Amino acid sequence: MTEDENTVHLLGISGGKDSAALAVYMRDRVPQMQYFFCDTGEELPETYEYLAMLETYLGKPIKRLNPDRQFKHYLAIYSPGGDLDPDTGLPPAPYLPSQRMRWCTAQLKLKPFEKWVDEEFSGKRIMSYVAIRADEDRDGYISHKTNIQAIYPFKEAGLGKADVYQILEERGVGVPRYYEWRTRSGCYFCFFQRKAEWIGLKERHPDLFERAKQYEKVIRDPETGEVIKRYSWAQGETLEEMEQPERIIEIKQRHEKYLEEEKRRNKSTRLLDIFEDALDDEDDTLPCQICNL
Ligand code: SF4
Repeated sequence: MTEDENTVHLLGISGGKDSAALAVYMRDRVPQMQYFFCDTGEELPETYEYLAMLETYLGKPIKRLNPDRQFKHYLAIYSPGGDLDPDTGLPPAPYLPSQRMRWCTAQLKLKPFEKWVDEEFSGKRIMSYVAIRADEDRDGYISHKTNIQAIYPFKEAGLGKADVYQILEERGVGVPRYYEWRTRSGCYFCFFQRKAEWIGLKERHPDLFERAKQYEKVIRDPETGEVIKRYSWAQGETLEEMEQPERIIEIKQRHEKYLEEEKRRNKSTRLLDIFEDALDDEDDTLPCQICNL
């Protein structure tokens, strides 16, 4: 078997702009490229719509990789014991994933990828193309499997955010529609969302906002009614608390203020740049790297 026959080229699409631009950029450079998307089953409709459009551009299917079990199953595993609520199927203390307990990425994204590689490409050398840009200081997901080698074409070519937009615009692909109200791909309930993005979810996808709410739980003092414990997606606040009209106004005003400040500071006139930077200022935690490229 020649080296080429033994080598597989894989590119993971997250549903975000960077991996989409990388797919577009690599289409003619590596014609044998295989594309995949780790589908948690909890994605935004705009992501599926964007994937379908990308498939048309790439002229190839994007392989969907699903976790073996759904989110709710893993939530029960990672939460303390006790009988599941017969109505909701939720554990008594739902330990929702968070920045400190990011079990969702491993179970819903990484494992399906590694399982697929083991089953489909056993004994092959895997070149895994990662969409980290030259203007970013991170490595992204690197598998510990010895047959998987990460390749960073944007870093190697010195391509940054402006180039990503240019690639997508020039080829007529554009960015996913959720960028109108959210800066990152990934699950609709992703805990990396900022408060303004949660409000965006409520306004754009009230059904998904309601679904996210159903995973949360509040424990109150039976006598005083005071909140003792919140199992919530956002820190210190449930979605029910966040959706109160006065709180929505407060979140939106704060976000508008950031946008204004960012417009003054930012050289770019691109709304998404300003939006992203403003949200980054609000919260500088790095998002899930395999979910948000
Ligand atoms: S997008 Fe967010 S919630 Fe979904 S797997 Fe990634 S980190 Fe977890």
